[in-house]
Amino acid sequence: MGGRNWQIGRILGIPIKIHISWFLVFAFVTWVLATGYLPESLPGQSFARYWGMAGVTALCLFLSVLLHELGHSVVAQRYRIPIGQITLFVFGGVAHMQREPPRPKAEFLIAIAGPAVSFVLAGMLLSVSVVVEGKPGLAGFWVLALLIGTVNLQLGLFNLIPGFPLDGGRVLRAGLWAWLDDLPRATRLSALAGRGFGLFLAVTGVTVMLGAALGRIPGAVAANGGWLTLLGLFLFAAAKGGLRQAALHATLARIPVADVMVRDVVTIDGEMTVEEAVARYFLTYGFGGFPVVEGGQIIGMVATNDLQGLSRTMWSWRKVRDIMTPWSPAMEIGPDASAYAAIDQMVRDGQPRLGVVKNGGLIGLVTRTGIMRFVQVRGIDPPAG
Ligand SMILES: [Zn+2]
Repeated sequence: MGGRNWQIGRILGIPIKIHISWFLVFAFVTWVLATGYLPESLPGQSFARYWGMAGVTALCLFLSVLLHELGHSVVAQRYRIPIGQITLFVFGGVAHMQREPPRPKAEFLIAIAGPAVSFVLAGMLLSVSVVVEGKPGLAGFWVLALLIGTVNLQLGLFNLIPGFPLDGGRVLRAGLWAWLDDLPRATRLSALAGRGFGLFLAVTGVTVMLGAALGRIPGAVAANGGWLTLLGLFLFAAAKGGLRQAALHATLARIPVADVMVRDVVTIDGEMTVEEAVARYFLTYGFGGFPVVEGGQIIGMVATNDLQGLSRTMWSWRKVRDIMTPWSPAMEIGPDASAYAAIDQMVRDGQPRLGVVKNGGLIGLVTRTGIMRFVQVRGIDPPAG
């Protein structure tokens, strides 16, 4: 979901953003509740009361979706998968995982955590609604608990549809991944299931609307047909992203790092002053970072963001070795590893570039932009089936 997002805060260190479409849905849901649903299920209340209750309900629905996404996020973070942001938009939310889960079991647990949260909320709210039903003075409370509980139940159930990228599709992908031991293929097959289910939902929705228009189905059901069509089209479109992702993954998995690395690595001597390094290297070559060597031995990496922490007056007397990031195994990869493994390592360890090391010697440098440029030129392989 591209477009405009508005950040409302952070939870667990994750930026929480609202897509612009969400405001329309919020207003629409509040209006439907205040003018239709609430007056019908709870007659005899004031105009202000209906609008107040409708606003609270819409906020609770928003919280339900947020808690669902946080369920995914908590489990993902336990597997050291960074969550770039949580976006709440018209059909719910997305927790943006920045890398694939390490194993099928992790994929399964992350995927199931969201619906699990929704089902627990549904269970609690529906139990409350049963307890307060018929109690004098609690009729409004009963209506809200029943409504929000039901929506959480629907949220959990809809997300369990076995089509990628829905949660059920991720569960399916985890199973296929465990069975085939081939993540890109598992992604492709579960995304194809997403295309199929999306189409099925959309066709069902259109059939319901047509039936209502022809008088074969009660008119009140027509709105459900509309929603079903929208959800189906949404899933159909989102699954296409899964197919693209699978093709890119399969392509990157076949390219060795040796093919995408820069071979003429420009290194900086650790004894050089920062001022000299900026003039002779950063400005001359325009690269974002350079390996640092001393006596033929690689000792670290220095990048533009290392310079930003240092005031310009210090440039002439501080040495590169003082501001560099010391070398660590997270910064290196072998030439035979796949480009996919390289990108995964960069994301996991927050490294924008990796040194390619063979027999203890630096033979190349690989960057994320370099890999993506290579793929752009070479093209993505057609799927193998
Ligand atoms: Zn989910």
